[in-house]
Amino acid sequence: MKILLHICCGVCAAPAVEWLMADGHVVRGFFYNPNIHPADEYEKRLLAAKKAAGELGFRMDEGVYDRETWFKAVNGTERAVEGGERCGICFKLRLEKAFEHMKKNMCDAFTTTLSVSPHKDVTEINAIGRSIGGEKFISADFKRKGGFERAGVLAKEWGLYRQNYCGCIYSLEESFRKKESEKKDK
Ligand code: SF4
Repeated sequence: MKILLHICCGVCAAPAVEWLMADGHVVRGFFYNPNIHPADEYEKRLLAAKKAAGELGFRMDEGVYDRETWFKAVNGTERAVEGGERCGICFKLRLEKAFEHMKKNMCDAFTTTLSVSPHKDVTEINAIGRSIGGEKFISADFKRKGGFERAGVLAKEWGLYRQNYCGCIYSLEESFRKKESEKKDK
């Protein structure tokens, strides 16, 4: 099958693409992440995704970095914690765009690298994907079968940039707060 893979970053793309290719699929990547803040962080993650695409030899398209659309979509959920209401909206926005891109480029199905992260709710991601694309969405959990560990190995081998927060300004603030409280506890 020709699969459109929504890519959140290069580190997560690596094991997911390996897995799909090993299953005999042709992968077309789609980097669409208007949630990422600030812009230089976006560039770092995009560059890492391009590097992974080069290493594994698959085509990757870049979506529009339309931050306004993302901020409008999550309006009112600024105070939600990571893993809460805002994340569902964020997943939905990105997967809807991936579904559009899949149809435009005549791929057979679509899925996402978001399930590589152990911090994200894979059941929620897959339910959202199914609600958007029905049978066209491939429910997956790419962290299984050592996917998360493989991401770390390949990131090291290829020198991929590894982020230390999920992506949006609110997750960045949350990570600052955690670090500050850890410092205080020491
Ligand atoms: S924490 Fe991550 S998944 Fe949740 S809204 Fe922010 S960028 Fe999106």
